[in-house]
Amino acid sequence: MNLTVVGYWGAYPEQGEATSGYLFEKDGFHLLIDCGSGVMAQLPKYVNPYQLDAVLLTHYHQDHVADIGVLQYHMLVQNGLQKQDKVLPIYGHADDSEGLAMLDHQYTKGMAYDPTGRLVIGPFTIEFLATDHPVPCYAVRITDGQDTIVYTADSSYKPEFVSFSQAADLLITDCNFYQGQDGKEAGHMNSQQCGEIATAADVGTLLLSHHPHFGDREQLVVEAKRFYQGSVVLAHSGYKWKKQ
Ligand SMILES: [Zn+2]
Ligand SMILES: [Zn+2]
Repeated sequence: MNLTVVGYWGAYPEQGEATSGYLFEKDGFHLLIDCGSGVMAQLPKYVNPYQLDAVLLTHYHQDHVADIGVLQYHMLVQNGLQKQDKVLPIYGHADDSEGLAMLDHQYTKGMAYDPTGRLVIGPFTIEFLATDHPVPCYAVRITDGQDTIVYTADSSYKPEFVSFSQAADLLITDCNFYQGQDGKEAGHMNSQQCGEIATAADVGTLLLSHHPHFGDREQLVVEAKRFYQGSVVLAHSGYKWKKQ
């Protein structure tokens, strides 16, 4: 499968960029995971948003869902122009009934996922892990039968990430803090914790994402590499991952 980083900032986007959004592609099927602020402006660089087959949300914080309303207007306008009735499924958890209800619109359908089970969306099979965050949030482990990608979503460190990420080809982590900073209260991880999980889980590549708006972000890579000898990538707009 192919992965494209559409947005990677925490909290709010820097100029011309976006907060969380990750595009998964396999055999022409397009799954967008998270749809934060700016994602709808960035997405057309990689795929026509009308060609999305499904959207999945890890939680309902604005930096992960802010552009859902705009995506719903996109479906409304394009269905009108193209004289179609295409309905886009948007998967979200049901721990927040208000959040889930927002996913229903004229041409989008909210679909509650069961985080205790396996969810199949097109070519992808997805498993979930509840994260440690101020609101209910789920990490995802996605496989197409060949490649496996784990995305921690938003979370402070939890040891369960090691087994959940075991042998993943790519691990996308919340890396909102620098080594030595404690992200526990905010519900985010630091660079050291990302590196430690990557080593213990023996993943192929570590992608540091959900960036802070302070400090020299290149330093996040330097710090993570102290704890993980494999390939470490600093997320950026348009970064594409494909198994070597
Ligand atoms: Zn976030
Ligand atoms: Zn969050």
